[in-house]
Amino acid sequence: MNAAKRIASGKERTPVKQSTPTKKRTTTRRVSSPVPGGAPLFQRVFTRLGCDGRPPRFRVEYYPYASLVLTIRRREDLLFVRFSDLLQHAPLAVLEGAAALLLSRVYRRKAPRVLVEPYLNYARSDRTRSRISRMRRGRVPLASTGPQGRQFDLEKMFAQLNETYFAGALERPHIGWSTRPWRRQFGCYDPGPNQILLNRRMDHPAVPQVAVEYVLYHEMLHVKHPTRRSGCSLVSHSAEFRAEEKRFAEFARARRVLDHLAR
Ligand SMILES: [Zn+2]
Repeated sequence: MNAAKRIASGKERTPVKQSTPTKKRTTTRRVSSPVPGGAPLFQRVFTRLGCDGRPPRFRVEYYPYASLVLTIRRREDLLFVRFSDLLQHAPLAVLEGAAALLLSRVYRRKAPRVLVEPYLNYARSDRTRSRISRMRRGRVPLASTGPQGRQFDLEKMFAQLNETYFAGALERPHIGWSTRPWRRQFGCYDPGPNQILLNRRMDHPAVPQVAVEYVLYHEMLHVKHPTRRSGCSLVSHSAEFRAEEKRFAEFARARRVLDHLAR
């Protein structure tokens, strides 16, 4: 399951990435487009899987992945889904199968075979495979930034935090700075690619190191405490998570700095 985690200065706000016009970008710009009827489709499949309670809100997009990829992330009470745009002309049953696969993973339900099969057959077909290889030749992966910033080295910071708080036992995920500054999000952990990203805006001499350390520590706790299901809802910041978070030596000071930065 891919649940994007974030930290937003104590207030659980929707992370809004700053939409500054891009100046120089070396990577190809990737554009997503909404899947028509995507949200109701997911709600139907949610009910069919036997998840009770009110379905969450869904946002469903096609995205030009370099392969036949499906992703799902949780952003607060919103499930954010991306289908490979290879599915753009696929029959409805294929899309429903894709939805069943994703939701069964998130809610740990067994998806009925009859529901999933159209997608699996579609994915395995020779026609789909040859389309993927044709398309692959035309796409480049997104550039990612490394852990060494101008001001702070996240790799070094990770090693120190790991020693101090995790007895060196936490396996290191990919770590980097966001390629662009975000407005309302200091960091996030995405278990899909197993990657922690910190807001590039924090890589600045005016930002106290303790604030950066705290954000990284918070995301490291997400690596340690994966999002779990409780009934049909998902828990990212469990009581254990919150208790462990307070072990951070300068917890109160770091929170104050972040609150100030968030203004
Ligand atoms: Zn978090």
